[in-house]
Amino acid sequence: MCDKLEHPGNCDASGRRNFLKATSAATVLGLTGGVLLNESARADALTKAQRDKMTPEQIIEVMKEGNERFRRGERKDRNYLREQKASAKGQYPAAVLLSCIDSRAPAEVIMDLGIGDIFNCRIAGNTENADILGSMEFACKLAGAKLVLVMGHTACGAVKGAIANAELGNLTGLLAKIKPAVQATSYTGERSATNYTFVDAVARKNVEMTVADIRKGSPVLAELEANGTIKITGAMYNLETGAVEFFG
Ligand SMILES: [Zn+2]
Repeated sequence: MCDKLEHPGNCDASGRRNFLKATSAATVLGLTGGVLLNESARADALTKAQRDKMTPEQIIEVMKEGNERFRRGERKDRNYLREQKASAKGQYPAAVLLSCIDSRAPAEVIMDLGIGDIFNCRIAGNTENADILGSMEFACKLAGAKLVLVMGHTACGAVKGAIANAELGNLTGLLAKIKPAVQATSYTGERSATNYTFVDAVARKNVEMTVADIRKGSPVLAELEANGTIKITGAMYNLETGAVEFFG
């Protein structure tokens, strides 16, 4: 198995599969421009051949290994400038993430990923909406990403705000989308925004409910998951330990 997003040159291309069913749309969207580049020119970014032969489970494994490196204070010896140049004419990301805007949870950093490896949707409290679902459908159906990952985190300010019924401009409406998770969280202790155990339990429930909402709100993604093309799952990032816990 090739488990290195950053060393596509080490992987053979025999498993190449074409997920770009809507080729005309993909061309219009600029997703096929990199195909003509030779392998050596793309040695620093994820190639289509490498991405296409990976399973969703292998992509999760790459993320887990990257997070373990991050927690050890290590990082792959990557060159961002070369990754930028290698991916300029085409992108073949392996996953699309939905995570919080929190400044302490940048996915590429905490999972040691590079330019061109993942799509990112970021919104306070990592809840979905129609535009985010559209972005995920683009990422998976047209651009060939194989993993939809909703990543919440501990001590989330948006979750605290939802628990505390905070109100502020447009934030009020955003927090309302997290409130169903507050109600759905089973917890016998103090159900307050200052009880971090409860806050984290709500954040976890919020991820679980968002994953379910993605399946319910996007027949396109649900079908891709049902036929085994993609996997939709959740994760929690612990700000204290630096660990990303994958749900499945
Ligand atoms: Zn947050």
